[in-house]
Amino acid sequence: MINVDKIRADFPILKRQVNGKPLVYFDNAATSQTPQVVIDSIVDYYSNYNANIHRGVHTLSQEATDKYEEARLKIQHHFNAAHAYEIILTAGTTHSINMVAAGFATLLNKGDEIIVSALEHHSNIVPWQMLCEKTGAILKVIPMLIDGSLDMKVYDELVNEKTKLVFCNHVSNALGTVNPIEEIIEKAHQFNAAVLIDGAQATPHIKPDVQALDVDFYVASAHKLCGPTGVGLLYGKQEWLEKLPPYQGGGEMIATVSFEKTTYAGLPHKFEAGTPNICGGIAFGAALDYMNSVGFNNIAKYEEELLNYGTQELLKIAGLKIYGTTAKKTAVISFNVNEIHPYDIGAILDKLGIAVRTGHHCAQPIMDFYKIPGTVRASFSFYNTKEEIDVLVAGLKRAVQMLS
Ligand SMILES: *Cc1c(COP(=O)(O)O)cnc(C)c1O
Repeated sequence: MINVDKIRADFPILKRQVNGKPLVYFDNAATSQTPQVVIDSIVDYYSNYNANIHRGVHTLSQEATDKYEEARLKIQHHFNAAHAYEIILTAGTTHSINMVAAGFATLLNKGDEIIVSALEHHSNIVPWQMLCEKTGAILKVIPMLIDGSLDMKVYDELVNEKTKLVFCNHVSNALGTVNPIEEIIEKAHQFNAAVLIDGAQATPHIKPDVQALDVDFYVASAHKLCGPTGVGLLYGKQEWLEKLPPYQGGGEMIATVSFEKTTYAGLPHKFEAGTPNICGGIAFGAALDYMNSVGFNNIAKYEEELLNYGTQELLKIAGLKIYGTTAKKTAVISFNVNEIHPYDIGAILDKLGIAVRTGHHCAQPIMDFYKIPGTVRASFSFYNTKEEIDVLVAGLKRAVQMLS
């Protein structure tokens, strides 16, 4: 059970006012807010043991190294990876995807096929287009259906011996659709294709088990699950991480260096060139501890209540249309009201202290599919309340009245 009053007290930002009104933060799918324990872990690092890791013999360096590696273990356990060295700490989802794409440039041949879903974030489209340009591989797209789900019948036809890679998000950031990744992975593996799942939007709501999923790569960003920006993970199965070449050259990623020949460090260091976001990694670990203390079952149950209530109340507004109506979705409501431009609604809601996202949500192909310029997206977290949804509905009614 969620005690939302107690949880809200953990988030200092939720006490602030925006434009003279109490903040109603419904932009959680873009970034989540940060609880005090995570803020404390950042302050603690810079106040008490700020030092570079892995190379120092002095106490501060050892403390920082221990905490950083402890964070890696927390991440390993959270995602149930078989080994800690299969967890690469990166700058976030986009960085992780680009690392895999760059690595595959050396493994693909002309005519090989890559499959992506129509529900992708731009960060999951552009790197593959660049990879195809470089290698002569061909990009295929799993189309979407009107309810915001993937057309799995077409996927079954697309995947074949030429398929080398399949990319799909676990949850769509624009619509909240939970995709059938188990089925996608299983089918791809029948043809020995690797699968990368973008978990940026799923991980705030679902605790994934990478071994049970048998997924080859899984990526996510800390800042969407109560952690800081600029840090995330690339989980890769050992065999795949060994097959891929290093992404960047530099310190940390080498075993020996000479001008004749450099040998690379083992996993995970091979992919962690240079000084990492040490503090960010440690705070990522603290964020996972916090979310697990709330409990992902509790989070899922409570957010479903918010989603159902929000959907029911928003649909009472005349002319409001929701995009993404599958039964399995996270607490994201993407909508428009009549022909009113989403940006105009967002600007009025901001005056009322309500933060929503407006636009194409980095997923222009989805907007093109619905033939709309964008949507208003309200995305809920476990620290939101039904009362806040009431404030949104009242604000929307006002906005619609002013703009009609
Ligand atoms: C937010 C998001 C990304 C990008 O994450 P960054 O942290 O900006 O790198 C990628 N995919 C999905 C589905 C997202 O929601």
